[in-house]
Amino acid sequence: MVNGEFLSQLAAVVDDKTMVAGADIGAAHSVDTSGEYPCLPELLLRPGSTEELSAIIKLCGTHQQPYVVQGGMTGVSGGATPNPGEVAISLMRLRGIEEIDENAFTVTARAGTPLEEIQQAVAVKGLSFPLDIGARGSCTVGGIAATNAGGNQVIRYGVARNLILGLEVVLADGTVLTSLTKVLKNNTGYDLKQLFIGSEGTLGVITRVVLRLVPQCETFTTFCAVNSFSDVLQLFRLSNQYFSGAVSAFEVMWQDYMAAVLAAGEDLTSPFAEQYPFYVLLEIDVERPDGAMEWFENGLAQALEQELIQDAVIAKTDSEREKLWRIREGIGEVVAQMGLAVHCDVAVDASGLEAYVTEVERNIGEQFPDNQLLVFGHLGDGNLHITVSANSEAEKTALYNIIFSSAARHGGMISGEHGLGSLKRDYLSYTRTEAEVQWMRKLKQLFDPNNCLNPHRVLG
Ligand SMILES: Cc1cc2nc3c(=O)[nH]c(=O)nc-3n(C[C@H](O)[C@H](O)[C@H](O)COP(=O)(O)OP(=O)(O)OC[C@H]3O[C@@H](n4cnc5c(N)ncnc54)[C@H](O)[C@@H]3O)c2cc1C
Repeated sequence: MVNGEFLSQLAAVVDDKTMVAGADIGAAHSVDTSGEYPCLPELLLRPGSTEELSAIIKLCGTHQQPYVVQGGMTGVSGGATPNPGEVAISLMRLRGIEEIDENAFTVTARAGTPLEEIQQAVAVKGLSFPLDIGARGSCTVGGIAATNAGGNQVIRYGVARNLILGLEVVLADGTVLTSLTKVLKNNTGYDLKQLFIGSEGTLGVITRVVLRLVPQCETFTTFCAVNSFSDVLQLFRLSNQYFSGAVSAFEVMWQDYMAAVLAAGEDLTSPFAEQYPFYVLLEIDVERPDGAMEWFENGLAQALEQELIQDAVIAKTDSEREKLWRIREGIGEVVAQMGLAVHCDVAVDASGLEAYVTEVERNIGEQFPDNQLLVFGHLGDGNLHITVSANSEAEKTALYNIIFSSAARHGGMISGEHGLGSLKRDYLSYTRTEAEVQWMRKLKQLFDPNNCLNPHRVLG
């Protein structure tokens, strides 16, 4: 129950568009895309400026009022889902692009700006923000920074951490920490912004970001059929060598995944008449398109000659490319029909991947032979998505244990991009040492001594 004294002091520092209560809040603020454990907050606060946010947060600290930070609610780890008793603070009104600097190759935007808005605005200037995810229409740049999002082009451009030059953050005591620099090189002491990137809103609330841009490239896309996982890995090696540095996406899908996506998406079709054990969506980004299609085709011809691929189609138009990507991004509809399930996004280095997947498939097959297992992911950066249907909460725990303990045995991480939020936080110590977790706790204590800011996320 939100304290009355807190409410009356709040009314004095916020404007009339900021505070929303009761039925007006809307179910969208009760749960993120995971759909797990929805909880409608008693109060929703939508500050319209950094100063207003700072005043709200300061007041929350004074009254020991816990709060959850909400961006576009596309996260899948429960991080933005309120817990009982928490107030929700949404960044939705802190939206808009402040500057596109064509000389510095940067864009400065408010945290609540959707990714797609950034992509479209910079494209008009012939530039690109090279981070793209399926949730582009709804996820915000603040959320991307907070979760250190990866996405479809990590092999070439890196994760959010590599693409953020500056941040403005409001700390739990209301301090506004501004580091909105556009410089690429900054060796003036600790790089504090890196603490907030990927901290899932547990150390501060991000209000503005400076993002790196690159010149727009021409993208060439192929969808390949592959016979074995070791051929997938060899194809990855060959494409990285042949296209040296130009590979921007290398997405792999197992046949079970393909079948499930095609069955769930009414207007989706396979590019091939036959079925194959694996499919790879491969893209290269090229600055100078002259002769690039020939280069692309020659690279694929080599892979065909070496029998690493059995068949391939090349997208000739944007709509053909979109159709191929819809297969890769079609998991949403499968998940919606699946019901209870675990969704994992482990990271294992390329050398350990084959053994890792074999072990997980074997262990799940032995213990849960009737459960549906779907594997796909950004193999180029060792990030695999593993979705398994479950029949109970106890089964979910057992499945998490199988998937995460194997990740630990193969030198991987339990999350490569979605983070821990509240759904995976209890598994943190599978792949981080006791000393690492202890220092994470010390950092949390330092930045948020009252434990009001996104409590019980990341750390249990
Ligand atoms: C279809 C689909 C595809 C996806 N693909 C990818 C992918 O390829 N790669 C990937 O990494 N993720 C992916 N995601 C996950 C998700 O989109 C990202 O995690 C995204 O960055 C979340 O942004 P958001 O604004 O929706 O954040 P939310 O879901 O609102 O919040 C996520 C977390 O960040 C915190 N947070 C949000 N905004 C702020 C802020 N301003 N300051 C501090 N903390 C904040 C929240 O408290 C929460 O802990 C996908 C999700 C969907 C639904």
